[in-house]
Amino acid sequence: MKHDTKKLDAIIDSYKDELIESLQALLKIPSVKGEPEPGMPFGKDVNDAAVHVENLLKSMGFKTKNFDGYVVTAEYGTSEDIFGVLSHLDVVPAVGKWTYPPYEAHIVDGKLYARGSMDDKGPAMCSIYALKAVREAGIELNKRTCRLLFGTDEESGWADIHYYEKLEKLPEIGISPDAWYPVINSEKGLYQAVIKKEFTDKTKGILEIKGGSRPNIVPDVVTAKVVMGAGLIKGMELAAKELGVELKYEVNGDVYDIEVTGKSAHASMPYLGVNSVSALISLLAMVNLPNADQNEAIKQIANKIGMQYNGQNIGIDVEDESGNLTLNVGIVNITDTNLEITIDIRYPRSLTGEIVTQRIQEALAGFEVIMTNDKEPHFVSPDHELVKTMLDIYANYTGKEAYTVAIGGGTYARALPAGVAFGPGFPGEPELAHQADEFEKIENYIINTKMIAAAIVELCAE
Ligand SMILES: [Zn+2]
Repeated sequence: MKHDTKKLDAIIDSYKDELIESLQALLKIPSVKGEPEPGMPFGKDVNDAAVHVENLLKSMGFKTKNFDGYVVTAEYGTSEDIFGVLSHLDVVPAVGKWTYPPYEAHIVDGKLYARGSMDDKGPAMCSIYALKAVREAGIELNKRTCRLLFGTDEESGWADIHYYEKLEKLPEIGISPDAWYPVINSEKGLYQAVIKKEFTDKTKGILEIKGGSRPNIVPDVVTAKVVMGAGLIKGMELAAKELGVELKYEVNGDVYDIEVTGKSAHASMPYLGVNSVSALISLLAMVNLPNADQNEAIKQIANKIGMQYNGQNIGIDVEDESGNLTLNVGIVNITDTNLEITIDIRYPRSLTGEIVTQRIQEALAGFEVIMTNDKEPHFVSPDHELVKTMLDIYANYTGKEAYTVAIGGGTYARALPAGVAFGPGFPGEPELAHQADEFEKIENYIINTKMIAAAIVELCAE
């Protein structure tokens, strides 16, 4: 490292209690995307979180800007060139069973439990205190100005960043503390599609299947109302155990009310969860459904997707230096007349969204495949100043080996010409983003803050 950061580190240590209290207040705002209101494009709760951060920054004396509720920024420095630290204040819904309520921010055994503690309000708060410390240490940012950028729609459609881009240029260079350490310089392509089919057969069979809330979450629960032959459910119950899901049912007349429970996870690492929707489709494919159209459709989906997380039977199980493809069935909505399944795929550099669509279409003949989202893979050379600097900081602060990593999650880093994701998850620690009982260790907030502050100094000060 070019700069001595001892004084800076001591200042950050002194912020510990204040940082945690500010963060707890922010975590208590359940900032899940809601219905838009005037001046609140993602609903009141998300806006409350943005205003909370804006007010905190103002109270610290930073120059702030609020881009109509889409993005809040604050900056410090004298240069025209900008180094960005990009985080987000929206969270995914707190699904699953929580030991500690998701919006109370309890601290137990040195861990802060809350939705957003890791992803991404924790790192957002760390970036605020990092910049505060740099200013308090009297370090002049003359090479680049540091701009903190807080988004509000990262978990959904990135409408925040798109809005911002229309008004202001995004930084040329920056980090997003919204994934893992050491340094993520490669992000896989992010692809989402809706698979549709209409049923013409009017025979009673599947009346309803509903599961999943977002394409980017492995759905933990799915419910179904199905008319099917008596005795079939026993075989499904046994098979459910083998798939690692729990199957519960009630019989009402000739209708089976079925509930399948698996385990949620982030869609970029579907193998960490157990997909309840994929499991239910696989189970229904084992029996003969009375409705011929539904019977065929379910068998096709089970055969081509099934419980596979890598798209093998679709012929997209590609792996290269940017990682391997992952596939998640995120949302299902089947009625007696229509099937609609939303999938989320993270693809490596050697594929394109067009190829993915084409292969799915070939595999699932008779279905309509509509691509709804396609973000190209992102890559920053390991020789770039940014990557080298961040690796150096990581090695210095942790004493551990620093290396670059490819991921399937899309962070704001990919919105920048030279952007890398940096933290907050440490290698070997459990992956908690989007999961129940999300937590972060208090000590990690401090080291995260120190490393962000070091990045600001190394990249912004002469
Ligand atoms: Zn995030």
